[in-house]
Amino acid sequence: MVTETPDFAAHAEALHALPPLREVVGRHELAAKKALGQNFLFDLNLTGRVARAAGDLTGCDVLEIGPGPGGLTRALLLAGARKVVAVERDERALPALAEIQAAAPGRLEVVDGDALKFDPAPYLTAPVKIVANLPYNIGTELLVRWLTAPQWPPFWSSLTLMFQKEVAERIVAGPGDSGYGRLGVLAGWRTEAEIVFDISPHAFFPPPKVTSSVVRIRPREKPLAEADLSALERVTAAAFGQRRKMLRQSLKSLGVEPAPLLEAVGIDPQRRAETLSVEEFCALARAFAATRA
Ligand code: SAM
Repeated sequence: MVTETPDFAAHAEALHALPPLREVVGRHELAAKKALGQNFLFDLNLTGRVARAAGDLTGCDVLEIGPGPGGLTRALLLAGARKVVAVERDERALPALAEIQAAAPGRLEVVDGDALKFDPAPYLTAPVKIVANLPYNIGTELLVRWLTAPQWPPFWSSLTLMFQKEVAERIVAGPGDSGYGRLGVLAGWRTEAEIVFDISPHAFFPPPKVTSSVVRIRPREKPLAEADLSALERVTAAAFGQRRKMLRQSLKSLGVEPAPLLEAVGIDPQRRAETLSVEEFCALARAFAATRA
């Protein structure tokens, strides 16, 4: 089968010729809905910066969750993505996205649906990057799904995501950081995560109450230390569930005696969850899994 190579230069010209996003939102009556976490980015310089934070997109399929009127979608196509698969729950955004599809024929697939019910496998070919200005109400849930993929390395080669700054800080947090918790252990175990830059509330329409941050996450080839995912999740949930308590107390909720568990891995029972490294949590998870074997 002979497939025609897309004319990227013609697409770029047509994308640049699209009307400003503010006008698109007005014309399609896309008044932002709070329930859908709609805070749109109108500044195409900024969406370009977010797309560049994902690195080289040429030859990559990009999964975007929540394209809305398509500011970031345009930037991803202009950055040379082979194809963008954009999952949007708000049907009102579909006409605006159809205009982008017409500007870059064959390179934008719009999925009209809920990202939480979406199976990306049939839509994407490796290498896959995920780039999104996530709706704040499902952002953490989506991230946890991507981080807990049963196969590792996962189907994606990077995540470049916008979160509320407080959530971003929890993702990149390590021992001793105020935001260190279950999310930081999970992210640190399987990935390398960094905050690339912050975005002021004034860049969005309507402006959210808090600053946002762009986070870039790359999967480690192999997790930092050996551990069973479900055992690691149980141990971190118990330890951080009572984060001010000593481990000898907080780990009781595991349903096993904490003292021998901690002794087996050489961790002082008087320590608190926030002081443990990811590797120490993995050691605890292995010891806990052994008690259940
Ligand atoms: N990408 C656009 C931008 O940067 O201007 C919009 C980002 S806005 C923060 C989040 C988008 O996610 C909205 O377009 C909203 O309709 C969409 N959304 C909300 N919940 C969703 C869901 N469950 N599945 C898919 N899209 C969703």
